[in-house]
Amino acid sequence: MQSIICDQPNSLSQVERERPECSAGEALVRIRRIGICGTDLHAFSGRQPYFSYPRILGHELGGEIAGLGSGISNLALGDQVTVIPYLECGTCIACRAGKPNCCTALQVIGVHCDGGMQEYIVHPADHLIKAEGLSLDELALVECMAIGAHAVRRAGVQAGEDVLVVGAGPIGYGIMQFCRIAGARVIALDIDDQRLKFSRDKGGADVIVLADGENTQQLIRDVTGGNGAAAVFDATGSPQSMTQAFEFIAHGGRYILVSIVDAHISFYDPDFHKRETTLLSSRNATREDFAWVLQCLAEKKLDLQPLITHRCSFGRFVEKFVNWATPGSGIIKGIIEV
Ligand SMILES: [Zn+2]
Ligand SMILES: [Zn+2]
Repeated sequence: MQSIICDQPNSLSQVERERPECSAGEALVRIRRIGICGTDLHAFSGRQPYFSYPRILGHELGGEIAGLGSGISNLALGDQVTVIPYLECGTCIACRAGKPNCCTALQVIGVHCDGGMQEYIVHPADHLIKAEGLSLDELALVECMAIGAHAVRRAGVQAGEDVLVVGAGPIGYGIMQFCRIAGARVIALDIDDQRLKFSRDKGGADVIVLADGENTQQLIRDVTGGNGAAAVFDATGSPQSMTQAFEFIAHGGRYILVSIVDAHISFYDPDFHKRETTLLSSRNATREDFAWVLQCLAEKKLDLQPLITHRCSFGRFVEKFVNWATPGSGIIKGIIEV
């Protein structure tokens, strides 16, 4: 079978490897669609901290069951599945508390260990979710949407609240969608006019705000009746933006950091305190979030097609990806068809 390996930053190659065999409790998945996200772009360009090479990327995966190890009753050959790429230990303090998404020994396939940029993978059957009736593209994008669903669930977004989503990329899109589904009024903030227009026209944002340096706080006040937003989500991964957004929170509000950045984030305590701010991080997603995404897709509450701006075949990906990873490519979400 064919695999695409990121040997070192800025270098991908397609190689022939032996098809893996599944053991008890594992399934062989024929990969059909691979979503490309910021993690892959950063890993490729060498900007992903704590990343080691060589690595097979790919953690947004849709496929079909092509083989089953012993002891599996929830799946059959030919089933269409989405992949939970997070492999937790099951025994640490977080796992015991029902939070495998922040397991102390978490391995995410395509990040900490080899992922799905290959024709077949072997994966634990209990980390595959059968999802009939969805398109292959949708199956591949469930994980990306589950990140947003988890953040919105953690934030406890209520109908009628003003929520501010800072960063209008794919993760921001997911956050906006689940805030909209929760009945909130969605404000999108970004430095990129095109992404804001996309958020307004396709992403369900009620209001868009183009960031304007020091004036941005006033712009956010203007669109929130002077209050700021009850929930502010960061999906930028920019330390400057993450720091500034403390100013956009309403009194009594919460701030949810979804993107991770390799930097210190600080705040001025009196401003933080006077609001009685609730500060949350949000990491990955749990199977409850995957289930909610699948339900929203099945009920047609969520449309993922507008996200897909780039597409190519597995065989052409090595030559195409350099362009996708170039700043200015306009990529929101790329899909590889296998
Ligand atoms: Zn991703
Ligand atoms: Zn654990």
